Amino acid sequence: MTRVLISGGKVVSASGRSDADVLIDGETIAAVLAPGQAETLGLSDEGRDVTVIDASGKYVIPGGVDVHTHMELPFGGTAASDTFETGTIAAAWGGVTTIVDFAVQRTGESVQDGLAEWHRKAEGNCAIDYGFHQIIGGVDEESLKAMTYLVDHEGITSFKLFMAYPGVFYADDGQILRAMQNAGESGAMIMMHAENGIAIDVLVAQALARGETDPKFHSFTRPAELEAEATHRAISLSKVAGNVPLYIVHMSASEALEEVAAARHAGHNVFAETCPQYLYLSIEDQLAQPGFEGAKWVCSTPLRSKHEHHQADLWKGLRMNELAVVSTDHCPFCMKEQKELGLGDFSKIPNGIGGVEHRLELLYQGVVTGELSLERWVETCCTTPARMFGLHPRKGVIVPGADADVVVWDPNGHTTIGVDHKHHMNMDHSAYEGFEVDGKVDTVLSRGTVVVADDQFHGRPGHGRYLPRGLSQYLQ
Ligand SMILES: [Zn+2]
Repeated sequence: MTRVLISGGKVVSASGRSDADVLIDGETIAAVLAPGQAETLGLSDEGRDVTVIDASGKYVIPGGVDVHTHMELPFGGTAASDTFETGTIAAAWGGVTTIVDFAVQRTGESVQDGLAEWHRKAEGNCAIDYGFHQIIGGVDEESLKAMTYLVDHEGITSFKLFMAYPGVFYADDGQILRAMQNAGESGAMIMMHAENGIAIDVLVAQALARGETDPKFHSFTRPAELEAEATHRAISLSKVAGNVPLYIVHMSASEALEEVAAARHAGHNVFAETCPQYLYLSIEDQLAQPGFEGAKWVCSTPLRSKHEHHQADLWKGLRMNELAVVSTDHCPFCMKEQKELGLGDFSKIPNGIGGVEHRLELLYQGVVTGELSLERWVETCCTTPARMFGLHPRKGVIVPGADADVVVWDPNGHTTIGVDHKHHMNMDHSAYEGFEVDGKVDTVLSRGTVVVADDQFHGRPGHGRYLPRGLSQYLQ
């Protein structure tokens, strides 16, 4: 077996940082060595069956874990533009070594058929390891049984429900309660898209009737109150179901965050994630751009006003662990022929922003500007997502026995984001076009194999393996 020594770097974990060398044997981490120890063991010379990666002056962190992606997701008459191949290659470029994507059961279809379809799309195509959550788009006796089966036999331990998108994914309160009770019996996690979709659809129809068709009305018809109301209701239902673990996805509003903070303060098993778009982008600076430009930033939950301190509150939430995880909700659509479906009617713009490639570098800006510690950056982007969704200790940590998913991060490097700067996502634009950020992905290893180094992709589709997951370890 080949051995790799990542030498001379500063190893950063969720709990601290230290100068150390990381020894990899085959696909796993063999040892974390104090400086000088590798030489004593005769490991530092090239040609002794050890490949040395020089990490001097750099950080060595666990590979990124993005627990919210939508490769090839059919949506609004089209499909997300990244395949599992293009999307996982872009992820690797951005220092991500694990994604957890969402297999879909649409209303009226069977859960197992949906899952089988997602396996077909992903198998043999991924450049990095991948797992699945299961979207339950129709709660009934059959899908409830399927949930239990997936936990017991398929390594799928988290189920996403929608309080939005009536007629597509929407579950009513009774269905949500039943799914939560079912999850409570098997120990599974319920993930929630928390927006009051019934009320939103009324506001959308009224806006369109007034001739308000521009992309910005996407946000105006999805007010923060309706995110907070749904968040509160989901929390209440999870309490009634027996304090069932609940994870609110893509949180964008201060009002919703307050609901999560209150529930956590009261000791409930409630967690939440946010995404880079909510930390950096706004109605004023992006979504309300003239003409149809704003379509690039149509996503749900929507971007919020920069004058309402959502962004500052979300950063604070990340520091305070009211927000446990940063994911991307990577759901890319090109402007041409995809976002364009909503020309003249914002409600027909496919919802989604692509960002799987940029999460680590965008969040690292929070370290640069003092919003997050280096350790908290690693914790929210790598370690907690793995623990939250049953991937610990294989993923998210650099400890002996863990998969050798490692990123060498250059804090002195510099990254310019955008389609003009050759991003690797299959998109004809970038939500972060022209963003200049400090820090750069230097080298990425996935299970001991170098997949990115020297500004080159060295991986291959099919290297990535399916990851059956255990129950959430966040409460254990
Ligand atoms: Zn999503």
